Amino acid sequence: MTRGLQFLKWCSLWLISTLSLNAQASNDADFQAWIQQFKQQAVEQGISQNTLDSAFKNVTLNQKVLELDRRQPEFTRTFWQYFDATVTQWRIVKGKHLYQKHRALLDKVTRKYGVPGRYLVAFWGMETNFGGYTGNIPIIESLATLAFDPRRSEFFSKELIEALKILDQGHVKVGQMKGSWAGAMGQCQFMPSNYNRYAVDGDGDGKKDLWNSLEDVFFSAGHFLAELGWQKLENWGREVALPNGFDYALADNRTARPLSEWAKMGLKLADGRPLPIEDMQARLLLPSDYRGPAFLVFDNFRVIKRWNNSNNYALAVGHLADRIIGRSELSKERPDDDEALSKTQMKTIQERLNALGYDAGPVDGIAGSRTRSALREFQVDQKLPADGYPSMHMLNTLLKVEKKNASPPAMAEG
Ligand code: CA
Repeated sequence: MTRGLQFLKWCSLWLISTLSLNAQASNDADFQAWIQQFKQQAVEQGISQNTLDSAFKNVTLNQKVLELDRRQPEFTRTFWQYFDATVTQWRIVKGKHLYQKHRALLDKVTRKYGVPGRYLVAFWGMETNFGGYTGNIPIIESLATLAFDPRRSEFFSKELIEALKILDQGHVKVGQMKGSWAGAMGQCQFMPSNYNRYAVDGDGDGKKDLWNSLEDVFFSAGHFLAELGWQKLENWGREVALPNGFDYALADNRTARPLSEWAKMGLKLADGRPLPIEDMQARLLLPSDYRGPAFLVFDNFRVIKRWNNSNNYALAVGHLADRIIGRSELSKERPDDDEALSKTQMKTIQERLNALGYDAGPVDGIAGSRTRSALREFQVDQKLPADGYPSMHMLNTLLKVEKKNASPPAMAEG
């Protein structure tokens, strides 16, 4: 390399690093200016100047929080991957032990709010490994960063005001107010708005301390679930066995039918006993393929989803709660071929279904009800179990088939 070229290369490297440093610096400067403006709004909403000064001292734009917020996983975990990672033997054993240890306190919460202790322990285990890990990102910094970022500014600005109210009321010191990158706090990971709405001073010391006081944690979680609509005398759901030839289209987790009607269709408990004779509405859910477990879920399943809107989360909480009181494990095991599909592979399934004349809807890589019912139609035509579950096996089958109503590949060869 000639000296001139080397000089040019050095110049361009210098320019690039200076520009990115400048961009970073101007971002930080913009952020500090934004904080000054935000403080004005906070004062107008009644937050004291003292709280604001201490809360925003040393707060800088947190790049790690921005990175985590922008992360878009290419793979979504399957039910089995999620279940095996969350309902672990360790959590079951630890949960049983802690349920016994804190039984007197849990019973007090149950008497007040109607939520059985096993669920409180299950949420606690799922959210923070029973208080073992509550997150170490300063809440004001994470919320301010996400409120400054345009993507979900309005939502996080509101949460930031709520967090400042908590500080203003003296429940926790700013240095102790830590949590997840997205602002969830304490042993049951409440967002600040939920904290202000539902947190309870369970031990009566005048503070709502969801980091250090188990009384406050359990009373708050019980209060939250009661307000979300917890049905006192009901379970969350039961694993069931489906009869041969069952129409999997009924497992849509939408249509509620009385238990008696499900029983008439031939459903039994997973161990073969009849369904309980209760006047309860239940929905049917098949979270993996036809070989996996099926569940009848009740109203409390939907309450769990109001805490965290995911079927897999709600199944894990419900099952963990059952295991904590010694109920049996699932009747099915994860098959060897259980594998997550990438978004691209899911799109291929949709494209192939559409190309073959089935209506899978827009090619968005999300297996919604339209994609699943198109897949079921395809499976019926192929004389396959019509569970509508998009698997690697179905992807490969779709790639082999020529057109709608074509014979299954194996038969076409013969
Ligand atoms: Ca307290």
